[in-house]
Amino acid sequence: MDAQERQIHELDERTIERIAAGEVVERPASVVKELLENSLDADASRVTVAVEADGTELLRVSDDGHGMDEADAKRAVKQHTTSKIDDITDLETGIRTLGFRGEALHAIGAVSRTTITTKADGGTRGTEIHIEGGERTHVEPAGCPHGTTVEVTDLFYNVPARRKYLKQERTEFDHIQRIVTGYALANPEVSITLEHDGRELFSTSGRGDLRGAVLAVYGREVASAMIDVEHSTGDLPEGPLTAVEGLVSHPETNRASRDYCTTFVNGRYVTARSVREAIIEAYGSQLAADRYPFAVVAVTLDPEAVDVNVHPRKLEVRFVDDTRAHAQVTNAVETALQEAGELRSSAPRG
Ligand code: ADP
Ligand code: MG
Repeated sequence: MDAQERQIHELDERTIERIAAGEVVERPASVVKELLENSLDADASRVTVAVEADGTELLRVSDDGHGMDEADAKRAVKQHTTSKIDDITDLETGIRTLGFRGEALHAIGAVSRTTITTKADGGTRGTEIHIEGGERTHVEPAGCPHGTTVEVTDLFYNVPARRKYLKQERTEFDHIQRIVTGYALANPEVSITLEHDGRELFSTSGRGDLRGAVLAVYGREVASAMIDVEHSTGDLPEGPLTAVEGLVSHPETNRASRDYCTTFVNGRYVTARSVREAIIEAYGSQLAADRYPFAVVAVTLDPEAVDVNVHPRKLEVRFVDDTRAHAQVTNAVETALQEAGELRSSAPRG
């Protein structure tokens, strides 16, 4: 770089917008995560995620949530617009919604061609908004049921660098499937459906039981191999967790990937590495080195004992007292496996 090229200058708005959007929308699965969270925040009882190929050509999330009227729909696609918090004090007192940054719809609209069709609860007519590369091209009335459908096509058409970085279709869709599965298991009271290339992969009933959701998502063989884990303060060793609950599989029902260990922290679907590793550890020598159980485990603890600053968008959390949390989870899962008659009494215990 010569001196002239090195000179500091301001970036134009379009460039700034695309860089910011790229941080929210890394790949098709990030779009699915954001849209699914919006549907859940809108109190939907039914959400359908439909994906074509790797999700860049088309992905659509439809819900029967509270929807938006025309004015709200127009506001929603602007940057930093949200109905979920008012100011910083809301962050300090705790947030009940999954979103609050007000960035997602705007970011998605900036790097795709997106159509939002929505009708507010109690509203008489719907609205359709189209955004192309961050530009709102039209708004018109639309006949549609209550709720919201967001259809994203040509994702990253204007960000070739992002497109190049995407993996094969299978890998991108795996990421999407993992996200939808995680939210389906975390919200068994919502009916969540995943479709790929027109084929339904799963649909949970929304009746609210975790076992039922596991059956819908993983099938009968896995569901019937699941053992209940239910431990709260009294029967856990000392540590930050006040409850460890969920389902874990009999050791003989396993896979060659950790992806089937799903964890929730205080009701949210997040990856808590220490919880996952603690579950696996509880199986000890009952699993071969490269085999992992199915697990859907929720832990509860004082929100202040969770370090949410690891990365808000990466769905990952850490505990302040990781060592003791780990020991608590291992203990709870070991006990459950033992009660189910799976730990031979002669097996050495650590
Ligand atoms: P955030 O979720 O952080 O508020 P988003 O950009 O994801 O930001 O959404 C902006 C706003 O649009 C939300 O606060 C909400 O009011 C509205 N919205 C988005 N998706 C939906 C939906 N599926 N149903 C109803 N309202 C929605
Ligand atoms: Mg959102």
